[in-house]
Amino acid sequence: MGLDIRGWGEGMNTGVAILGSTGSIGQSTLDVVSARPDRFSVKALAAGKNVDRLISQIAGVRPELVAVADAEKAAEVKAKSPVKVDVVWGEEGLVAAATHPDADIVVSALVGFAGLIPTLRAIREGKRIALANKETLVAAGELVMREIRRFGAQLIPVDSEHSAIFQCLRGERASEVARLWLTASGGALRDWSRQEMQGAEIADVLRHPNWTMGHKITVDSATLMNKGLEVIEAHWLFEVPYERIEVVIHPESIVHSAVEFVDGAVMAQMAVPDMRIPIQYALSFPERWPGRGKPFRLSEMGALHFHPPDPRRFPCLGYAYDAGRSGGTMPAVLNAANEVAVQWFLSGRIPFLAIEEILRRVMDMHEPVAHPDLDTILWADAWARETASGLAEKGKVAR
Ligand code: NDP
Repeated sequence: MGLDIRGWGEGMNTGVAILGSTGSIGQSTLDVVSARPDRFSVKALAAGKNVDRLISQIAGVRPELVAVADAEKAAEVKAKSPVKVDVVWGEEGLVAAATHPDADIVVSALVGFAGLIPTLRAIREGKRIALANKETLVAAGELVMREIRRFGAQLIPVDSEHSAIFQCLRGERASEVARLWLTASGGALRDWSRQEMQGAEIADVLRHPNWTMGHKITVDSATLMNKGLEVIEAHWLFEVPYERIEVVIHPESIVHSAVEFVDGAVMAQMAVPDMRIPIQYALSFPERWPGRGKPFRLSEMGALHFHPPDPRRFPCLGYAYDAGRSGGTMPAVLNAANEVAVQWFLSGRIPFLAIEEILRRVMDMHEPVAHPDLDTILWADAWARETASGLAEKGKVAR
């Protein structure tokens, strides 16, 4: 299904670069990697501004190179680092980390569109990409998948839903897949009415019931935009048309997603909600290694619930389907407008429900360009950011 399943150097020590090492996925990745020094060495770390956390990571795994947001942070890292390390910064720094010659696996775990260029550059070096940064596939899915094939790189999903589907598809035929079922916890406002959502505070939205994650994805979970981005991600990863990708709310987050086959059989992957499981799988694939988290006891799971999402309370999911079906630059525009709107919400400048309004209005103003190249995607991203920011200015979003 568009994914290469070559084996991975059994018994070898593999170099790893972690983009976004100070984030939620980055820290879980370091936990996984540090537990297997026989199999992994960290060659490069890339972070943004959290110098203190990066310094303790440098002390722990002694990478050869680290990248940070800017020259000022780079000087701070140089001054504080307990060991000798090359320090680079900015987009060039991210690319240097992503293309480190001794890193065979790149964990792409930056948040947002910032992940696209370094991930593309790693792909062009033929590396294995353990992909958490879904925005890369949303904004540039067609281009990314083409480059994967062209450069013989490997793309293994880290997102728990896509990891689940990837696992369910092992050994199966693409022509026998009837439907993909993406599960969604429903986010922090799952049971809120529209009226209640109008008054949703930042703290309410960040109170995710099942996962501890970065702020952006937690807000995306509350609008269901995260699931919408995942629908687009699944479309590109598994080459399944949108009408055969369905979302189901599953509050317990135990079934991470499922594949329905033409004969009516459904394969689902279950696990306790712990991102170290899909992260480790993306690194160890095609091997499976012992997990280190809480054991799974089916007998203790109790009732598992599934119900369809409510499109009136969560319109963003539908916007993502619209953007995916429009294709071309539309998903990049949706993604960029969403990043801006979420940022504005998190800084307290717009109410929660203004996020969806900004997305719809920016999408309505965009005429998608089909089969965009990288420059066109960058242009669409910049246009959408500017347009969304304009709308987000006080007074221009009605609420
Ligand atoms: P976080 O916000 O926790 O971490 C983001 C990381 O990216 C941090 O290390 C941050 O650095 C770094 N970063 C952000 N912008 C830049 C930049 N411009 N330059 C350099 N570094 C930057 O995010 P998450 O770990 O939650 O999510 C990462 C990605 O993984 C997202 O795409 C998300 O959708 C996806 N994902 C996350 C899951 C989760 O459980 N968290 C589950 C599935 C997918 P710093 O903090 O130092 O500034």
